Amino acid sequence: MSQEHNMRRVTAIRNGTVIDHVPAGHAMRVLEMLGIDQTSSVPVSMVMNVPSKKMGTKDIIKVEDRELNQDELNRLALVAPDAHVAIIRAYSVAEKMTIDLGEEVKNVVRCTFSNCITTNPREPLPHRLKVLSTEPLELRCHYCGRPQDLEALVRNLI
Ligand SMILES: [Zn+2]
Repeated sequence: MSQEHNMRRVTAIRNGTVIDHVPAGHAMRVLEMLGIDQTSSVPVSMVMNVPSKKMGTKDIIKVEDRELNQDELNRLALVAPDAHVAIIRAYSVAEKMTIDLGEEVKNVVRCTFSNCITTNPREPLPHRLKVLSTEPLELRCHYCGRPQDLEALVRNLI
């Protein structure tokens, strides 16, 4: 099945953002990370478990009338480090944004270990998580060295 065909599974949008190559089953968590829910009033469409040559299956998300910024891309990287992001204007791709997790995630999320020094309000330290691997994603706190609970990270967004 071609790429083009897959993209057409979801209605074309006039303006907004298309997030492709989201790991299958992670679309909801991506929306959570981006803070998009029923209160945000932008139309969102998604397809789950689309066949993908590269990934087996994947999810695709389209968010209308909203262009992701760099901060949001950094959050997205924590759920879908290999996602392809396209900004759509007037029904065509105006910009392609790449996700680069880099070696460290700084000031995006807080360490998920409750006794970490970064949870002490009297120690205002930058929040630093080291990226050990992206497939699968493995993060470790710069300060306490604890591996991070990816499920819990979404609740620790800064
Ligand atoms: Zn920590």
